[in-house]
Amino acid sequence: MNIANNIAHIRTQMEQAALAAGRDPKDILLCAATKMNDAEAVRQAIAAGVDCCGENRVQELTAKLAENAYTGKPVHFIGHLQTNKVRQVVGKVDLIQSVDSVRLLQAISKEAERQGIRQDILLEVNIAAEESKSGFTPRELTEVLENLAQFPGVFVRGLMAIPPICQKKTDNHKFFQEMYNLSVDITAKKYDNVRVDVLSMGMSGDFEDAIACGCTMIRLGTAIFGQRNYQ
Ligand SMILES: *Cc1c(COP(=O)(O)O)cnc(C)c1O
Repeated sequence: MNIANNIAHIRTQMEQAALAAGRDPKDILLCAATKMNDAEAVRQAIAAGVDCCGENRVQELTAKLAENAYTGKPVHFIGHLQTNKVRQVVGKVDLIQSVDSVRLLQAISKEAERQGIRQDILLEVNIAAEESKSGFTPRELTEVLENLAQFPGVFVRGLMAIPPICQKKTDNHKFFQEMYNLSVDITAKKYDNVRVDVLSMGMSGDFEDAIACGCTMIRLGTAIFGQRNYQ
């Protein structure tokens, strides 16, 4: 498993997917989903040119921050975040991608205010309306955006989605398309404290489709680091 080779290969695939869709490859950022990979692997990914790192678990984030694993690149939080752990994340990461409930939004805003900062976030959309997943429905999303004045500690930088694993690769097209349309709608509405420059979607199995549908950031784990070892 050679992380640098994997990333070089991914960059080629990203470029081809972008060009095929008539897009500028520079408009799509590569976020390394670093869960279960150690500081050394993270450093290799950064050296090989990923644009940012995304961490899933607070404990791993804290440990790797202490090891200066992310030096030189932004670090994002991309996993489900419990409200009782926001203190360990707010102000420590450049972007919290996975804001999936009003309760969490409230907790993050409050903690950011306490620290005297403004935390950049993405709102996570449950685009396939899956029972098992958290995230805002498109309707709830509108409601939150219209009431952002209640959350002065955050700045919304865009949207994030994790569509379901589909049998056929192209089955996700519909969800990616809906996410893109949502991001266009929101941009057009010019909400206060919102600037939609990130549409984060696409993982190792479907990132080329996500690029075809207009994402501006993909989050890859397996394609960069190989299969995760859950032992
Ligand atoms: C693990 C993870 C990814 C990357 O998944 P791969 O299929 O390994 O590329 C992306 N986003 C989130 C939120 C993840 O937890």
